[in-house]
Amino acid sequence: MECRDAREYLSASIDGALTPEEQERVEGHLSACERCSDFLALELKTKRLLRQRLPPPPVPSGLRERIVQAVTGAEPVKATRRWGFPMWLLRPAPILAIAGAFVLLFALMIFYAGPRSTEASPFVKDSVDGHVKCLLGEYTMEVKLASPDELARWFQERLRFTVRLPQFAHQGQTELWEGRVSLMGGVQSAQVFYRWRGKTLSLFVLSAEKMPLMPGEERVWRRRTFHVNHHRGYTSLMWRDGDLAYCLVSDLTPEEVMAFASEERA
Ligand SMILES: [Zn+2]
Repeated sequence: MECRDAREYLSASIDGALTPEEQERVEGHLSACERCSDFLALELKTKRLLRQRLPPPPVPSGLRERIVQAVTGAEPVKATRRWGFPMWLLRPAPILAIAGAFVLLFALMIFYAGPRSTEASPFVKDSVDGHVKCLLGEYTMEVKLASPDELARWFQERLRFTVRLPQFAHQGQTELWEGRVSLMGGVQSAQVFYRWRGKTLSLFVLSAEKMPLMPGEERVWRRRTFHVNHHRGYTSLMWRDGDLAYCLVSDLTPEEVMAFASEERA
């Protein structure tokens, strides 16, 4: 494994998203390469700083177990019951925690209770998984930058292909551009968050030659051909532009996502 390969795999490695074989290869390289070990230390530090700046909302104890039980029917983890008025409800922090817990609840409900698609393509499956795991904080965005150009440059140092980020007309007033290197169908891709109408959409960008057959139902919308996929209640919309393949994931309808994707700024 060369340095370039190792660096591409590092973020997936930090997230625990590699297969044992891939993980072993990455670790093998790291133990022999000082430059990549330094690079990893820096990535970990960046991630830690991002987490400190934007701490995930704490979830009230037992809530996650109850949600999982409600949507999967799994046995609950036995919780100790305490009586008396819950004074912590009167403080502002729990209100934020509860709001955060509701976001988590809806993401989990859509993910687990959504209709199962039969034999989803690994590209579709990974795009939805990657999106949901980022929303849940299981995977973290690696970087927040002030402009799409800075973000494209950040990807340039980590990926073998040139990432062009579309300038969506509807993307709203995004102040910080968040991104991470992601694996989609085993292929290195750039993942970027967009906020629109109170929703978060994930855009995945990868080299088009890595996805010769684009999965999904073909639909033409404003002269662009899209491929529409559904997986676990999420829309995964794909299209090509030159040498790049794009995939937008969200819980919006395909029509809404196509409207978002097809109105690029002039
Ligand atoms: Zn190296």
